[in-house]
Amino acid sequence: MTIFKKIINKEIPANILYEDDFCLAFHDINPKAPIHFLVIPKTTEIDKLSSAKKEHKDLLGHLMITAKELAEKEGLKDFRVVINNGEGVGQTVFHLHIHVLGGRDFTWPPG
Ligand code: AMP
Repeated sequence: MTIFKKIINKEIPANILYEDDFCLAFHDINPKAPIHFLVIPKTTEIDKLSSAKKEHKDLLGHLMITAKELAEKEGLKDFRVVINNGEGVGQTVFHLHIHVLGGRDFTWPPG
């Protein structure tokens, strides 16, 4: 079981921003920006974006809309949305998650 599933199950605490039947959003424990939260699906079906199937289309849309609504709620006009897909690009938790980061300037391209 991943650490995110334990957060979904409330077996370990997290600083939760938002929750509904399909997703959960909580502050990243090791923030890379003044505001850094994660939006995750409650299902464990998708370990990374490349495992998502057409049937997950509505869920993925819901995660994105939730991410932008929470960014607005946090007072962010400009923000960065990141999905690390695979170990080679830095994914460490194999439960799909959208990073939302803001509150400082960012450079492009990312490292
Ligand atoms: P990634 O490297 O894309 O897989 O991102 C995983 C993220 O989860 C990292 O930014 C971690 O800091 C974050 N993280 C790991 N454990 C926890 C936790 N218990 N609560 C909140 N965020 C966590």
